[in-house]
Amino acid sequence: MDNCIFCKIIKKEIPNYTVYEDDHVLAFLDIYPRAKGHAVVVPKLHTETLLELNDELLGFLMTAVKRTQEKIDHVLQPDGYNVGWNHGEAGGQVVPHLHIHIIPRWNDDGGSNMHAIVNAPGHTSVQEISTLFA
Ligand code: AMP
Ligand code: ZN
Repeated sequence: MDNCIFCKIIKKEIPNYTVYEDDHVLAFLDIYPRAKGHAVVVPKLHTETLLELNDELLGFLMTAVKRTQEKIDHVLQPDGYNVGWNHGEAGGQVVPHLHIHIIPRWNDDGGSNMHAIVNAPGHTSVQEISTLFA
């Protein structure tokens, strides 16, 4: 996509600090890191969200997440990680090109966990919701 900042990074039109790269995926340091070594793992094919990515590329993407994490682990030795992605505007996605955040964590970093993202379960019981999936 012509206007996409991550496509421009992938095409080397904008510089990046690469952590990992293969034929299908580029992982680079986030320019506004929330932790030391915060990286984003980006499929080279432009899709806005996970739902448009075909399953083969999804496999490559998840393998690249692991490879990137292995590298961060080797270089920075964090105590843990949060790994995930913001999906859509409601999910806080700003760059409309799928990317997985890898956020290294340290025991004393004062951060929280994924449960801190939202706490608005509504009034429908879990049992009622489950019937929708039956
Ligand atoms: P999201 O809110 O999930 O769409 O996150 C987009 C992420 O991309 C943010 O964490 C930004 O800091 C990061 N970002 C935006 N532009 C760049 C860039 N040129 N190089 C590295 N990271 C970037
Ligand atoms: Zn793109």
